Amino acid sequence: MIFDLTFLGTSCMVPTKDRNHSGIFLNYNGYGILFDCGENIQRQMKFVNIKPSQIDMIIISHWHGDHTLGLPGLLQTISNTQRTQPLKIFGPKGTKKYFEHMFNAFVFDNKIELEIKEIIKDGLFIKNSDFYLEAIELEHSVPTLGYRFIQNDKRKINKTYVTKYGIQDGPLLGKLQSGENIEFNGKKIKVKDATKIISGKKIGFIWDTVYCEACNKIAQDVDILISEATYTHSLKHKADEFKHLTAQEAGQTASLNNVDKLILTHLSQRYKNDSEILEDAQKVFDNTIVAYDFLKIKI
Ligand SMILES: [Zn+2]
Ligand SMILES: [Zn+2]
Repeated sequence: MIFDLTFLGTSCMVPTKDRNHSGIFLNYNGYGILFDCGENIQRQMKFVNIKPSQIDMIIISHWHGDHTLGLPGLLQTISNTQRTQPLKIFGPKGTKKYFEHMFNAFVFDNKIELEIKEIIKDGLFIKNSDFYLEAIELEHSVPTLGYRFIQNDKRKINKTYVTKYGIQDGPLLGKLQSGENIEFNGKKIKVKDATKIISGKKIGFIWDTVYCEACNKIAQDVDILISEATYTHSLKHKADEFKHLTAQEAGQTASLNNVDKLILTHLSQRYKNDSEILEDAQKVFDNTIVAYDFLKIKI
């Protein structure tokens, strides 16, 4: 199954002409998850034809403005659509209180059902038949969560094997598919021979943080690691002061944890092009790119 990620914003605190506040849209077979919603994200969505009705879930990393200022506008728009399904929202400790304050800050005529949940401990918080999501607490100046999106492993029929034995019967193939051994023409057919497991894809999201053990947990064995990289390593003192990562630290995290591809985002406005950030990470991890607004990655 093919799914895709669209980067809707790739700046840090101050947006630039080229980089909007943070937001990433994951489209998994028609199921839409918006990770963070900085200022102007709903308009960024328009540029790439993502409709508000495509969002099934919003997942917030933390309540700094560059990750959340776009929520009121987006929710106002969604509230004026014909939506009947509840909108699921997840975020760190304090999320419910922040929503309450937000809705009291202006006239907001909410017409949709919001299911707001705070994630208070690390681990699994969503699981369905296609994928699951885990949260891991990062170390930033306010409660902040990083995430892992993991596609469930799928069992696939080994066509060569079943053809060899002439098994065409639908229900029998169905049993194999669901992991059961079968008997065919008096012969035992073992599921481990007749099927193979295809590992699900894994995506890690490291949002605002200092370099810490949580970064390694999020990055472990992922196909794609999306990481903030606010500064190059020459500004490590600033990264420490404001509790952010350098590009080199993001690269280090990728190189230590069997990551396939690293995508850097959340760049400081001081970087007028992405070459310094890219070179800094590539000193330690070669398969790196720097995200730009509207970058789309198919997985
Ligand atoms: Zn930020
Ligand atoms: Zn932050």
